[in-house]
Amino acid sequence: MEKVFEKMKFGMLMVILSLAFSLSAGEVKIAVERNEIDAKYQWRMDHVYASDAEWEKDFERINPLLDKFDSMKGTLGDSPQNLLNYLKLDEEVTILAVKLSVYANRKGDEDSRIAKYQGYRDKMSGAFSAFGQKTAWAEPEILQIPEEKIWQFVNDTPELQIYRHYFANLLRSKAHVLSEKEERILALAGEVTGGPSNVFRMFNEADIKFPNITDENGETIELTKGRYSALMKSSNREVRKAAWQANYETYENWKNTLAANLAVEVKTNVFYARAKNYNSALEAALDQDNLPVEVYTNLVDAVNDNLEPLHRYITFRKNVLKLDKVHLYDIYAPLLPEVKWEIPYQEAQKTVLAAVKPLGKEYVRGIETAYANGWIDVYENAGKRSGAYSSSFYGLPHPYILLNYQDQVGNMFTLAHELGHSMHSWYAQENQPYIYSDYSNFLAEVASTFNEELLSDYLLKNIKDKQRRLYLLNEQIENIFITVYTQVLFSEFEQKIHEVAEAGKPLNAEVMNGIFADLQKKYYGPDFELDPMGESRWNRIPHYYRNFYVFKYATGMAASTALAQKIKAGDKKARDAYLKFLSSGNSDYDINLLKQAGVDMTTPEPVTATLNRFNELLAEMEKLM
Ligand SMILES: [Zn+2]
Repeated sequence: MEKVFEKMKFGMLMVILSLAFSLSAGEVKIAVERNEIDAKYQWRMDHVYASDAEWEKDFERINPLLDKFDSMKGTLGDSPQNLLNYLKLDEEVTILAVKLSVYANRKGDEDSRIAKYQGYRDKMSGAFSAFGQKTAWAEPEILQIPEEKIWQFVNDTPELQIYRHYFANLLRSKAHVLSEKEERILALAGEVTGGPSNVFRMFNEADIKFPNITDENGETIELTKGRYSALMKSSNREVRKAAWQANYETYENWKNTLAANLAVEVKTNVFYARAKNYNSALEAALDQDNLPVEVYTNLVDAVNDNLEPLHRYITFRKNVLKLDKVHLYDIYAPLLPEVKWEIPYQEAQKTVLAAVKPLGKEYVRGIETAYANGWIDVYENAGKRSGAYSSSFYGLPHPYILLNYQDQVGNMFTLAHELGHSMHSWYAQENQPYIYSDYSNFLAEVASTFNEELLSDYLLKNIKDKQRRLYLLNEQIENIFITVYTQVLFSEFEQKIHEVAEAGKPLNAEVMNGIFADLQKKYYGPDFELDPMGESRWNRIPHYYRNFYVFKYATGMAASTALAQKIKAGDKKARDAYLKFLSSGNSDYDINLLKQAGVDMTTPEPVTATLNRFNELLAEMEKLM
């Protein structure tokens, strides 16, 4: 049971696209040692523990606390006090364990060469697993308490009243609970039904072997997934095409095996949905997050009603790249020459502050605090973890942001993005009790992409240079192309193969190829040409083993884009609603929280607004080029 909540920048998206940020073409840089970097650019871990000795002392508190759970077993339904005591202890241990873990992980990320913090991390993973074992009985036991009794407890006990939504959400799952005997059989099946995803992972991460290809410098290199993504962004079409063919051929050799494996995964989802009395696998998957099916169908419908801008975008690619037809190996090729746009950190700080001004004084003050109070670890040093993230939890003095800032415009967007996560956490933690102080996956990227939108908008208003404007437009267009259009295309395939299985029809490579081919032609339009191997693009996407997950990228972006549109227009009410949303954590269901913020995800409007935005941006880019 992993209880560390860290929001990574597009953590999951990176898997789909395998974007290789680490592969910036042979750049060998000698990083400086950490102690050579000015302390004002380092985060303040001493705000969590003043010293390692303090950490070690606090760590000793964990086991005695965990032992307290033993005597609670079998007593939660006896009295409201017992139930409350359990919840309070769980809270206390979680806050302590996460605090210890945050210190261990952040110190480890500062310089992975320091063995001491690896030791701390190992200790913490042991502690979390003990925590999981000591409390594994608790939720099933709460679910055994008759529902009326739980509500009686809540109504009679003031301290239990804040848990109302927590219990409601927990008890929701009871609607699909079967008899004890049936549940036992389903639980026994669990060991087996994870098979397809394990098989795919083993294949895709361990056994698969890619051939050698020739790179841009005429050198022979072995193709890897990381290199593949970088090569898809090459401006040399021959290189892109060779890499594409080598990659697709490798999977193509296994297409029947991969189809059979994916078919079992799909049938597993259908099996569970039917066993648990859902109308469809889609409905069962969405019910996990209490999402109505309309959230999904509206998304797909809205995208289907707005394919014309995407067709125009493909035509635009064709014209800019001077091609006869756009092939799959052309859809990520760069449209613009590399733009030189350096932004030192201080300037990025100021620009981000100016860009978030529409959110009001309090939000701006929050970011000033982040800058001044040691939230952010700015520069790269030897041994430091790569990439960027925001890490935050209830009870910590403040959120932490890791950057590897390199004076590029893209780094400034990363700063805005991670500050979005941190501010969301900060607002939620300041305004909610522990139990509602985090936010769900469905909402995780709303505040971060929202800040990127504000930044982009601010820059577009203030920058006259044509190349830079084009860069900004292109980034926003590509974001919507990848996060909305492409994910919905992928998701429609997922929905269709589930429908084939539900109808009892055969599901094999040929059927899957047919579906994916039709979808790609529909999405990309008349200037796109599908190579025969491109039909089997489904066979390399790991997310098809995560049961209706990809569509959440699209809904997240639609929500943040729709919200940003309103707030940019200067609507004060919209701003207050958004800040209230940040302050709400997960104190209600995701859909309700977004509704209060001003976007109703059960209607097509937010998606339509996002695609209209895509249309506007594209029109401006067409005009400029
Ligand atoms: Zn993020």
